[in-house]
Amino acid sequence: MPSSKGALSFSGLVDRLVSLSAIPEERVEEAFPASINFARHVARLFREDRLFDILPRLETQLQIVRRFSPPVRPALDPYTSTQIGVFSKLFDDYEIGHFLGYPECCMRSFAEDIRYSIDGDHIRELERSGMKAFVTTAGFIPCSVFCKEAQNRGLLSFVEPSEIANLRAIEKETAAKLPHFHPEYREHYFEIKSL
Ligand SMILES: [Zn+2]
Repeated sequence: MPSSKGALSFSGLVDRLVSLSAIPEERVEEAFPASINFARHVARLFREDRLFDILPRLETQLQIVRRFSPPVRPALDPYTSTQIGVFSKLFDDYEIGHFLGYPECCMRSFAEDIRYSIDGDHIRELERSGMKAFVTTAGFIPCSVFCKEAQNRGLLSFVEPSEIANLRAIEKETAAKLPHFHPEYREHYFEIKSL
């Protein structure tokens, strides 16, 4: 069975994290030229054995994502994101965005136009699209619901209302298998907007 865009996107992100668990210090810069400081930080945490519990969590989440094969990848397990410093303000938004595979156009719209959530413009675009709903990776804000780059990278997709139950099932199962202590992110791995 061919992988969905969401599954491919998620496994690419897991590959990047796993590679940082074993990379020699002097190779980080060439392997992650757009996220040097962040990648160095994660590689150091791995070397100091402070991320020993995230690899099995990534594997568990990857298995769930592969099984459900969603059109868009879910957000990374919030425990893992916290441990590696995705939510910390230590790193530039662009470094984190590049590492997470976000397109340049969407990062610019996020950082320069301060669009920190799905807003009225996204909803008006949905109304114009002729579609009933769209889904994004939670935490990712597309520059437009029509952004081809975000769609190609498995971060954004129009969906039929009938597909939403499958997305909610992934969220439920991920939350059950990977408990964590972030009440605000509980069962929130996708952002789904419907008319
Ligand atoms: Zn974009």
